[in-house]
Amino acid sequence: MCSGRVDLKHVLRAFSNGIDGVFVAGCRLNECNYTTHGNYHALNMVLLCRRILEYVGLNPERLSVEFMSAGEGILFAELMSEFGRKVKELGPLGRSEGLDGNELKARLAGVARLVPYVKMVEREKLAARLASPEEYDGLFTTEEIERLFSEVVSYYIEPSRCQACMACARRCPAGAIAGARNRIHVIDQEKCIRCGTCLAACPPRFAAVTKMVGDRVPPPLPEDQRTIVRKGKDQEAG
Ligand code: SF4
Ligand code: SF4
Repeated sequence: MCSGRVDLKHVLRAFSNGIDGVFVAGCRLNECNYTTHGNYHALNMVLLCRRILEYVGLNPERLSVEFMSAGEGILFAELMSEFGRKVKELGPLGRSEGLDGNELKARLAGVARLVPYVKMVEREKLAARLASPEEYDGLFTTEEIERLFSEVVSYYIEPSRCQACMACARRCPAGAIAGARNRIHVIDQEKCIRCGTCLAACPPRFAAVTKMVGDRVPPPLPEDQRTIVRKGKDQEAG
């Protein structure tokens, strides 16, 4: 498939499954047959993912990207052999970096869950077309990625303000909001991709959605306390 279709999630899943190294090959830069130039996206995605690997404690050399034409079979074979040798030298995933297998899986799962958020925050850089390899190193920095993961935003519905108008749940692209008529709505933080749509959707007169940065989100309201009893109306539901 086109290298532009290779997603951060695919690469992280490969490492999560214990693969020692991932090699992404694309057509030569500026020789894409389509206006999309997906190989630039592949390059930027790999540069970002290499920083993410560093963040979880893995050697970023385990992920490589190279560009070549369909006629350069010998070059492809050479690059693959070279990468294979490098991965052998690096040794088994995680163990070589001093990471326990379960710990590594948990760290990879944690960052994989935030992929939609990371892609949203970094969308401009992911779409960049770098002019030269010298610029690659500076596109994403270690500090930037550490900040990105330490300042992840969360969205929380304040139970006392929610009026169960259902506007947020209807527009949530991840199906992360549980709620119904006369039921206080609750965000499932595991499903939430942190797009902020619910914040924009909640009518200002209710202003029930709060954006939190780096704070711990309060635990969800228990199911049996979510019914809204409106004054003057007998709307109590089970
Ligand atoms: S931030 Fe986006 S994904 Fe998360 S609950 Fe709100 S609308 Fe859904
Ligand atoms: S849009 Fe606001 S008031 Fe309406 S259900 Fe969602 S959080 Fe509650």
